[in-house]
Amino acid sequence: MATGDEFLTAMGIEVWKLRDRQGEIDLDKAEPNKPSQAEIAPEKNQVPAIEEMDAQVLKAAVAACQRCQLSKTRTNTVFGAGSLEADVLFIGEGPGREEDLQGLPFVGRAGKLLTAMITALGFDRNQVYITNVVKCRPPNNRDPLTDEASACSRYLRRQIEIIKPKVIVALGRVSAQLLLDSEVSLGGLRGRPQKYRDTDIDVVVTYHPAYLLRKPTEKRKSWDDLWKVRLLLSQ
Ligand code: SF4
Repeated sequence: MATGDEFLTAMGIEVWKLRDRQGEIDLDKAEPNKPSQAEIAPEKNQVPAIEEMDAQVLKAAVAACQRCQLSKTRTNTVFGAGSLEADVLFIGEGPGREEDLQGLPFVGRAGKLLTAMITALGFDRNQVYITNVVKCRPPNNRDPLTDEASACSRYLRRQIEIIKPKVIVALGRVSAQLLLDSEVSLGGLRGRPQKYRDTDIDVVVTYHPAYLLRKPTEKRKSWDDLWKVRLLLSQ
């Protein structure tokens, strides 16, 4: 059985594999033989509702979105990255400076640690999916406001419907509270078996990698959470 030390080693050194995985799909290459809704070029009055959008149209809708004030200060929207067939979906709170500049989730130091956590689970980054509660950067890396998270929540809900993961890993308080529709603290939400809304999708709450960088002593607790993800995937 793996130990906490092995996990810490895995944060940059050791890799274990749960099992072989096939069929990873890059968002931009999803279903190459099937025309996407975007390629069908819908007439203006035929744009589907968010709840009916495919991944490419949803991404385009996010890129054009002005539903909240974060649209005014963003450089790029950060839709998400990874496999649309992922079993594990990581959801953080919002893009930071680097993510805003690159249009990609979890790049920079926190992203490096998240990659190590994913590796510790036995996956590559392109075998899971990574996104955030809000798709535009909150100024000065503040937490997203309730109305911003709420304005963006339909996009996230649709992403979850499209990916249909087995397990969602909520990274940090903002993500955990939104996904579980709760005002309980992160400490109170961690370690409990819980489901996403009225689905069979398990939600595992853990610390945000940026917090772990500030408080590396909590990495062992995040190992407990990742161990839970492994158990859920093996059931
Ligand atoms: S954060 Fe979400 S709701 Fe707000 S502008 Fe960006 S994409 Fe739209």
